[in-house]
Amino acid sequence: MLISNGGEVPLELVVEPWADSHRIPSKQTCVVVTHSSAADGSWPGTLRGDEPFQVDHRPDSVVVWANGDCFHLSDADGSVIYAADWHCPDQNPVS
Ligand SMILES: [Zn+2]
Repeated sequence: MLISNGGEVPLELVVEPWADSHRIPSKQTCVVVTHSSAADGSWPGTLRGDEPFQVDHRPDSVVVWANGDCFHLSDADGSVIYAADWHCPDQNPVS
């Protein structure tokens, strides 16, 4: 999922439930990826199910709830900014 800051000031991006906070500079775009270990590829969702993300926009921040087992944050060029991937099903395949 792309998160773009079209504003003139840095935007705070918080990824829950990890509560990781990052700043998106003005006019920059970040990419948030999450993976699910569910065998059928479904998502536990928030209120409706089958939703990988929920986004709360607040006056000076954006809160992204990732419903997968991990999240990966990168910039628009694909450079990794941060990852909470210790439960990532893509990087820790069940053997
Ligand atoms: Zn992952």
